[in-house]
Order: sequence, then structure tokens, then C-alpha cells
Amino acid sequence: MSIAVYPGSFDPITNGHTSILRSGLVAFEKIIMAVLVNPRKNPLFTVEERMAMIREASEEMGIDPSRVEVDSFDGLLVDYCRHKGANVILRGLRAVADFEYELQMANMNRHLNPNVETTFIMADDAHFYVSSNLIKEAAKLGGDVDALVPKSVAARLRAKVGA
Ligand code: ADP
Repeated sequence: MSIAVYPGSFDPITNGHTSILRSGLVAFEKIIMAVLVNPRKNPLFTVEERMAMIREASEEMGIDPSRVEVDSFDGLLVDYCRHKGANVILRGLRAVADFEYELQMANMNRHLNPNVETTFIMADDAHFYVSSNLIKEAAKLGGDVDALVPKSVAARLRAKVGA
């Protein structure tokens, strides 16, 4: 079975992430959405909340639950991939700004484990400028971001920041 790990902060999952997930499922039989446990980033949502929102989003999208696993991980991503029996890392690429960071990470991961390959899917044009950080900022200031996130995320954002 072709399995890819799609790692990220997903704080929260956006329509940009879900579009990469949908495209990824064309290429891979199963995708593991792996939430990075990273307290340095000072996330708005807990790991459990972020995982719940990913589950709700894939349900909303009508994805066969056997094709998406939602998990969290800490430590080296390549070790996590080995543990899960996955040899592909899936990442999304937006504007040029993503490229250098993603290239560095892909090269480091290849150095750490040459058996794990990173693949990229281009953001679609509707989501080129969508990021979790901008969505959080706009929501905190009372902006309407409903069209940019799954339904359950919009509700949870409102509850969290009162937007
Ligand atoms: P990280 O902290 O690991 O960058 P993110 O949740 O911000 O976690 O992003 C996870 C992955 O999803 C990254 O590869 C990122 O480039 C990609 N991504 C984020 N937003 C979008 C989007 N709007 N369209 C396509 N890919 C995206």
C-alpha cells in the first residue's frame, strides 16, 4: 500500500491543507495527517483540538476514513515515517517563500534517511495565500475567514477567539 505522511502544525487545518490532502489521495492510497507536537510555536489549539479538526474536516469532505489516519508526532519526522511504514513525506508548496524552507527540510530529511522521499503538491490558486497564521490573525481581529477553513474550524475559531 502506498502511504504518505503529511506532517504539519495544522493550527488550525485550512482549506489550503484540505486541498493538498484531496490531491494527495489521488496519488497515495493512504495519508497519515501527522500533527507536530511543537510547544516552541505557541499554538492556539491543543494537539487534541487540531487532530479533532482534521478528523471533522475529512468527514466533511466525505473521505473514506480508511484512507486517512490522524495522528501526532514528536521528534524526528523520518523516524516517525519508519515507525509508520511510510516512505513518502507529503508537503504543500505555496509562494516562493515556502520553497527555500521546504528545500532545506527535504534535504535534511533525505540526509537523515535516504529511503524516505519528500514529494510536493502545488497549492491551487484559490489557496495560494491561505495560511494558518494569517487566518488566526484575521479571526482575532474579527475578520470573516469562514470561506477559508472547514466548517468545524470556523466554529472552533469563533469559540476560541470570539471572532
Ligand atoms: P508547518 O509548521 O510544518 O509549516 P503548516 O500547518 O503551516 O505546518 O503547513 C503544513 C504543510 O502544508 C506545509 O508543507 C505547508 O507549506 C503546506 N500548506 C500550508 N498552507 C497551504 C496552502 N494554503 N496551500 C498548500 N499548502 C499549504
